[in-house]
Order: sequence, then C-alpha cells, then structure tokens
Amino acid sequence: MIETTITIDGPAASGKTTVGYELAQAIGYVFLDTGVMYRAVTLASLNAGIDPNDEAAVVKIAESLDFDIQPEVGHEDGRHYTVMVNGIDATWELRNSDVNQNVSAVSSYPQVREEMVRLQREFADGHATVMVGRDIGTVVLPDAPLKIYLEATAEIRARRRMGDHLQRNYNTVEFEKILADIIRRDNIDSSREHSPLKPADDALIIDTSQLTPDGVLQAMLDAVTERQLPVLNA
Ligand code: C5P
Repeated sequence: MIETTITIDGPAASGKTTVGYELAQAIGYVFLDTGVMYRAVTLASLNAGIDPNDEAAVVKIAESLDFDIQPEVGHEDGRHYTVMVNGIDATWELRNSDVNQNVSAVSSYPQVREEMVRLQREFADGHATVMVGRDIGTVVLPDAPLKIYLEATAEIRARRRMGDHLQRNYNTVEFEKILADIIRRDNIDSSREHSPLKPADDALIIDTSQLTPDGVLQAMLDAVTERQLPVLNA
C-alpha cells in the first residue's frame, strides 16, 4: 500500500474542496475535506441544544462524535460524498448558516482540534491521501511531500461562493452577507492561538484569483509531476 499525502490549505471559499477532490480523482488518491469534521462538531452541538460558546460541552460532543464519510452513490444533488453525523445524512445541513456562523468558534477550541487531528492522521495512515483544510500542511501532516496553499481575494471568493449557492437554488443569496461571513471567518481562523490558518514554510502558494478551476488543477498536477509523487491510476 502506498502512503503519501498532499495537503491543501487556504481560506474559506478558496476552491480547496472542488480542486482538491478533482486532484484526488485524477491521481487515484483518497480525499478528505477536514472542514466537514469541524462543521459536524458544530452541527451536533447545535442539535444537542448546546451553546457553541460553552467550550467544555462542545469538547464532549467532539469526543463522542459519530462521524463517517461514505462514497457518493445514487444522489444527483452535486455531492461528492455523503457525510453522516450521529447516524444521519448531514451532507448539506453542514453548510447551513447556523453552522457557518459558529464553526470558527468551535474549531478554535484546542481539545476539539486535538480530537479532529487524531482522526485526520488516522485517516491518512496507510493511504495515498489528498487532505484539505486550514492547518493540514502546518500541523496535521507537516511531513507531506507536497503542500499547497490556495489564495484569492475575499471578493473573488465571495463571488464564487455565491455562484455555488445559486446553482443549488438556495434562496438567501446576498453577496454582502457572503462576503462578510468569509471575512469574519478568515479573521478568526488566521488569528486564533492554536493552529492558525497560514501557509507552511515550504508550501507551494497558488493565487487562484485569475485561474479557472482547471487552471488550478493543472498547476497542482504539474507539482505532482515535478515532485515525482506516485500517480496511482495512470
Ligand atoms: O473549509 P470549511 O470552510 O468548510 O471549514 C469550516 C471551518 O472549519 C473553517 O472556517 C475553520 O474554522 C474550520 N477548519 C479548521 N481547520 C481545518 C478545517 C476547517 O479550523 N483543518
């Protein structure tokens, strides 16, 4: 079994999940979007009636979380995989505005992070993995042979996120709100004490502002070739 990892970090709506998933498909690696794990803890806390500011209670939820990612079968709603939280399909609920509002607070708690990082390392163990998040290259898998950091202006990211929402027919699509949420989350994620959002020292930084998703994918594939990483479905 080949164990190798590619890490992709970057701010909210930088396209990490879309291009990360495509990269994993293109080279035959397993894909994990770690954002869904922090979202799952947030959703499970809200569903249990817990105040997301109650750190001790949220930590308990994280430690007992029943979380699973299953391959997509038979859904035609644009999902790449199904996320089960405490036995229920929460794939889309994880994206709702209550979760968006509270996820950065929840993910700032060190013991929540410890638990998630443990699960993420377990996931990568023994697999060829593309793992996407905020601290994957800096904290979770610092020895990865290829670390990528995606960036783009907040306005461009908000515009792209708005396009996603329109495609899914969400009825509350307000550019200013999306932009404000992105800026708020960027600020919390990059200024938190534990594992703040930042590129690893040796990360390949890709500014996606002027690139299409295909352009970003190509830049990543070029890096895979340059570093002679194994391509498993060639
Ligand atoms: O990537 P996504 O926007 O779904 O992530 C949701 C939130 O989860 C982020 O705003 C961040 O607070 C948190 N997160 C994190 N570390 C990761 C992935 C996500 O703190 N590795």
